[in-house]
This record gives sequence, C-alpha cells and structure tokens, in this order.
Amino acid sequence: MHIKISEVANLPSRFGDFKVKAFKEGQKEHLVIYTDNLSEVPTVRVHSECLTGDAIGSLKCDCRDQLEFALSLASKNNGMVIYLRQEGRNIGLLNKINAYALQDKGFNTIEANHQLGFRADERTYEMVTYILHHFGIKKIKLLTNNPDKINSISDIEIVERVPIIMASNKHNEAYLNTKKDEMGHLI
Ligand SMILES: [Zn+2]
Repeated sequence: MHIKISEVANLPSRFGDFKVKAFKEGQKEHLVIYTDNLSEVPTVRVHSECLTGDAIGSLKCDCRDQLEFALSLASKNNGMVIYLRQEGRNIGLLNKINAYALQDKGFNTIEANHQLGFRADERTYEMVTYILHHFGIKKIKLLTNNPDKINSISDIEIVERVPIIMASNKHNEAYLNTKKDEMGHLI
C-alpha cells in the first residue's frame, strides 16, 4: 500500500483551532484533524465519510451530529478525528443513494445493502493503524458506540471506549434502532 502524506497545515474551525494532514491511499484521500498539543493517550474518533449527512445535513443518519460532537471534543481535550473517505459504509455514493431508494420502499439499511450485493458494512480500518503509527501513537481512547470498531483496529492499544450520546429524530429513529438491535451498537 503506497500512501502519500501531505504537509501539516493550520485549520481554524468553528470547533476550535486544528492542525490537518491528508493521507492519500490510491484514489482515496483521508483527512486527520488534531490539535497542536495532542494528549499522550488521545481520544480518537474514526469517522467515515457521509456526504449526505456531513455536508448536506441529512436527517436519515446521525453522522453529522457525531462528527460535530467528535470535533468539539477533540478541540476541548486535545484529541484527534480521523476522517476516512469510505462513503456509505464503503459502498460509494452512487450505491448508497440506490440503497436509500430501496429504503424508501421499506427495506432497512442492512436489507438494502444485501439487495445491492454488499455486506451490511464494507468498511476497513487498516488506515487507522497506519495513521496512528505515523503520529507515534500506540494507545488511544476510542470515541465510538460501535464495539466492533474496537476489534477492527489492530496494533493499537485501546485503553477506554468513550461513548457518543446523541438525540434521535423522527427520520433517523428506525435507522438508529437497526444499528442498536442488529449491528450491536451501544446506544
Ligand atoms: Zn450518514
């Protein structure tokens, strides 16, 4: 795996002042957002791209709320957000929209993925280990409600799981319940 790494740049944001660094893996360009005085054992959020949620403010999922929570927390406690470009649980934007169309017909998020020939979740996390090693980080606190994510990050000691508490709305309630009941999320 050949990875190209950018210089470090400043990124003042509405959540605070960050440093950013980009990692290019093939066609995928990931972003790491962190503060100048990273904690020794930083709280790290691994966020997977969700264009409709993150940028458009979709209420079908909780991605934007989670991202904003993670950035605020990173700013407060000198943590890190690793923004991975694996849109739609890594099936890509076009397939995600097709999955949404199936959801409009009554399939849940898992059934819709299966209809399109994908697993419920196609994401991978090798880049997380690569990025944390790049920063010389061996131990983290992982900000997640997804216990599977703890097992999918290898060669990094996760000393604590920090939960994200989010309010549901009428559009994402069914989606959050599926994540909780069928995908083992602790919410
Ligand atoms: Zn989303």
